[in-house]
Amino acid sequence: MHDIYQAPVSLLHGVGEERAKALAGIGIETIGDLLEYFPTRYEDYRVRDLTEVKDGERVTLAGTVYGEPSVRFYGKRKSRISVRLVIDKVVVTAVWFNQTFVKSRLSPGKEILVTGKWDRHKLQITVSEMTEVDSDRARKRGELAPIYPLGGDVTHAFLRKTIQQALSHFGEKIPEILPADIVSRYRLMPRAQAIYGIHFPESAEEGRQARRRIMFEELFLFQLKMQALRRITRQQTEGMAQSIPMEEVRQFVKSLPFPLTDAQKRVVKEVLDDMRAPYAMNRLLQGDVGSGKTVVAAIALYATVKAGFQGALMVPTEILAEQHLQSLMGLLSPYGIHVALLSGSLTAKRRREVISALQMGLVDVVVGTHALIQEDVFFRQLGLVITDEQHRFGVEQRRILRNKGLAPDVLFMTATPIPRTLAIAAFGDMDVSTIDQMPAGRKPIETSWRKHEQFHQVLEQMRVELKKGRQAYVICPLIEESDKLDVQNAIDVHAQLSHYFPEYGIGLMHGRLPAKEKDAVMQAFLSGEYAVLVSTTVVEVGVNVPNATFMIVYDAERFGLAQLHQLRGRVGRGSEQSYCVLIADPKTEIGKERMRVMCETTDGFELSQRDLELRGPGDFFGTKQSGLPEFKVADLLSDYKALEVARQESARLVAESSFWEEEEYSHLREYLKREGVLDGIVFD
Ligand code: ADP
Ligand code: MG
Repeated sequence: MHDIYQAPVSLLHGVGEERAKALAGIGIETIGDLLEYFPTRYEDYRVRDLTEVKDGERVTLAGTVYGEPSVRFYGKRKSRISVRLVIDKVVVTAVWFNQTFVKSRLSPGKEILVTGKWDRHKLQITVSEMTEVDSDRARKRGELAPIYPLGGDVTHAFLRKTIQQALSHFGEKIPEILPADIVSRYRLMPRAQAIYGIHFPESAEEGRQARRRIMFEELFLFQLKMQALRRITRQQTEGMAQSIPMEEVRQFVKSLPFPLTDAQKRVVKEVLDDMRAPYAMNRLLQGDVGSGKTVVAAIALYATVKAGFQGALMVPTEILAEQHLQSLMGLLSPYGIHVALLSGSLTAKRRREVISALQMGLVDVVVGTHALIQEDVFFRQLGLVITDEQHRFGVEQRRILRNKGLAPDVLFMTATPIPRTLAIAAFGDMDVSTIDQMPAGRKPIETSWRKHEQFHQVLEQMRVELKKGRQAYVICPLIEESDKLDVQNAIDVHAQLSHYFPEYGIGLMHGRLPAKEKDAVMQAFLSGEYAVLVSTTVVEVGVNVPNATFMIVYDAERFGLAQLHQLRGRVGRGSEQSYCVLIADPKTEIGKERMRVMCETTDGFELSQRDLELRGPGDFFGTKQSGLPEFKVADLLSDYKALEVARQESARLVAESSFWEEEEYSHLREYLKREGVLDGIVFD
């Protein structure tokens, strides 16, 4: 009895050393690898009815040879063989060019399948492939031939033959690995049948069902791994059960200038429940721009301080750090909570002071950039870390925190709405909280798209808002913070606008300004001294000026949809109607479509889904660190429903003790072991 995941391919007939090596070259070493080397598509060799075949179509026909073939030679090595075939009582001509060797196979009365191009007027097929019909009934109907991703010296003929052989010798040994109740509830094809069916489907429907089963299995195994990891992390990390005085938190929430939305309430509960539990929180909080994540963060920080811990808020830019500091001080200082800033812009002396205050526990909440987690920063009792714009913080930063021996509760906040499918895929080991509701009274931002030549009209539109005392952003693209040309772009636009609106203060902001100057510019815009802020994308995240109601985005086609949406979120933060004008001359149809999509919807989740569809998942997070898993058969875009089901089912499964004990799940536990998930785990 062989385990197909142990048995080497060389056990198969016709697989010697050389071919085994060729197979290893495409990742196939065991029989199991071979059987799970799935085709990406099928070539259709199914026999068609003559009456439905169009002129010029590639088609497979089944017929009987009628009479002797005739051969003609011409030119140097050129030949033409033709023979008459009877197909459904119709006589047609089959023609081969330069394939004299087929002549011997064309004896009268023989049944053959011919594949080639059909000429309806001459009733003639020019044959490119031919098979003799054997006794096998299935083959008589023709087939869907699997097309594999090939490599090296491996050919289709060899691969098909070898897989056929593996199926007939080892097919019985393909184990079912999914729990029986899942197989039956989701009407999945049994595993062995699906593996047969995906390689050699007898019908298109069988191929579809086989693919569906294998797609589900892939997603299920992936999720199982994530959920098992999550459970194991929970059990193994020495998290702290924070004893949060809930009544005080309720009072704090009551004292806020507005009631929380239902979504905020739900999310606050999810976060506080995690903090009070003995495991370390590992939660992603997503919510569209302006949905009110900062308040949730403030409540969680308040709670951790009241439970006797310190909290940290990490943000990607100095501007954001500054702004969060202001809003947190506003909310928390009245309760005697000490909030401090720790960013790269501090003087060495101030930095030392803050660090020692942190160490002594004199600072309760610290806000900062990466400077927060540098080597020399220590906390007295860190309970909660919140990072804003999670995807900008690398794995490395998280590792540093862990290496400091800290196991604080961690909340990742992101305003880049990640389509749920991707959130589940990329952050499968995290819990996800979503604020899917805007505070009441918000008016959706009116977005329009204009060409560069209409810029002056747009400026007049802006003048109307400025006259009402409102403020405006003008955003110029910046791909790289150090990109000279783009900064020049902002400077030019600033000069142009200063000339156009001499009566208003026009500020200029870009990443190359020293931190002090950035602060001063931001301060002047906040106070209303500047009516207009010309800026690169440094204002992208978090910046909150509720009086700003107008935004122009220059060269909008150079931004991704998710980023445009982020930028747009800088306006529409008060109760007034806000506007966003995209200036763009996109060259491509996709570029135009993206502008239209921006104008059509203000729902960040819908936008990111559309962006994903237009760009593909590889591009979504930027090229490299997408962190998205690759699947053989499953497709994150079209199979997202199955991904959700797989997540629910696998989470339920790993939570049951039977999963870790019973024979029925041994294949799944084996899988987790092979994937290294169970390394070093002791079961009690
Ligand atoms: P986000 O960080 O999700 O982009 P913020 O937390 O900055 O959003 O909130 C955006 C604005 O909405 C802020 O001015 C905030 O004070 C306000 N806000 C937050 N929650 C509510 C609410 N429940 N009702 C009314 N306004 C709210
Ligand atoms: Mg925010």
